[in-house]
Amino acid sequence: MKESIREEEVLKIIKDYGKVSRLKLAEVFGLTSARISKVTKILLEKNIIVETAVGESSGGRPPVYLSINNEKFKDILGINLTSNRIMYITIGKINGDIVKRKKISLDMLKPEKREDTLKVIDGVVSDEIKENPNIGAISIIITGSVDEEKGMSIMSPHYKLKNPKIVEYFERKYDLPVLLENDVRAMALVEKQIGGCRDIENFVVFNLGDGIGSASCIGKKIYKGHNSMAGEAGHIVINTNSIRKCSCGKRGCLEAESSEIAVIKKITSEIKIGKYSILKDVLKEKDNLTIKDVLFGVKKRDFLVIQVMTEAMEYIARGLNILISVLDPEKIVLVGEIFSSKFLMDTLKFELNKISLELNKYSIEPTRLGEELYFYSPIAVVVENIFENKSFTKKYTKD
Ligand SMILES: [Zn+2]
Repeated sequence: MKESIREEEVLKIIKDYGKVSRLKLAEVFGLTSARISKVTKILLEKNIIVETAVGESSGGRPPVYLSINNEKFKDILGINLTSNRIMYITIGKINGDIVKRKKISLDMLKPEKREDTLKVIDGVVSDEIKENPNIGAISIIITGSVDEEKGMSIMSPHYKLKNPKIVEYFERKYDLPVLLENDVRAMALVEKQIGGCRDIENFVVFNLGDGIGSASCIGKKIYKGHNSMAGEAGHIVINTNSIRKCSCGKRGCLEAESSEIAVIKKITSEIKIGKYSILKDVLKEKDNLTIKDVLFGVKKRDFLVIQVMTEAMEYIARGLNILISVLDPEKIVLVGEIFSSKFLMDTLKFELNKISLELNKYSIEPTRLGEELYFYSPIAVVVENIFENKSFTKKYTKD
């Protein structure tokens, strides 16, 4: 095996452990301490790792640990474009520290009137680089299907992109390494690194906003699929009798029945044909409802809102049941404002219990990370790729 590959393998273990002794490394690789020391010596000379003496020793020399040298790595600029058209901007370090958080709400214009998303991102990147010359990598997250190996957005219903080759565009323009990932897959990485799935081998993240998507982690690896399309749970046809058209063109998809937009549309049209709801006045006043209004209706146990939301939970349960049957996960993490309602969570669990196999044991809960999930997502993608993705690592670690 080549020396360089060995170096990356050693670095990956040091990164995963945070702090690790040479003895432990020797144990992990089944090599002698002398063989390990040969590699760590090179890495120390390259300044990629540092030695730290930790704690008191029981006589003799204090134990020496190796860790990644954070000083060697420049800052990461993270851009996260969510399905609710919010742009989260983060500047962070390779050890996961975040030094800047900023949030911008993008226009709610219809897709055909929207500005090219590449230009929007470019404006932010250019400003941030001017302000912080220490930026050494860019990590971009976008909704929809992403081919992260080609650095392309395949399809993003929430954003208009004239040029889908995002990575190529930014690498050329700024001469920095760039990573691109799908929003829900990035969320799964965050749950794995700093959230509630740290020691969990198999789990699913289910995200519900204006769109619906999922990501699964199998054996501690995020599953991408043959076309990089794994996780498009929003387009599982859940109601074959439905006349509601989905953003993908089909009818009866989970997204068309249960996304935030879908339930708002259903409640709005029912009120407009004369059904009673406490949201009637809100609709009259503002001309449109938000998911917060819907959650208010749930809280007040408004009959119409409860009816629509119970049906939505039934559909979500059907979608989740398919994921559970196929993947048998230990845990399901739910992301989205509607899951903050205990009433809706209880309804969802009730519906799931009705249809899922009794032998399938799993836990299901809303994410505990709040907005940090969105801010940390781009950083999580870099942490995952460093020492794994060779071309990215080479560009990011160059002097
Ligand atoms: Zn669809």
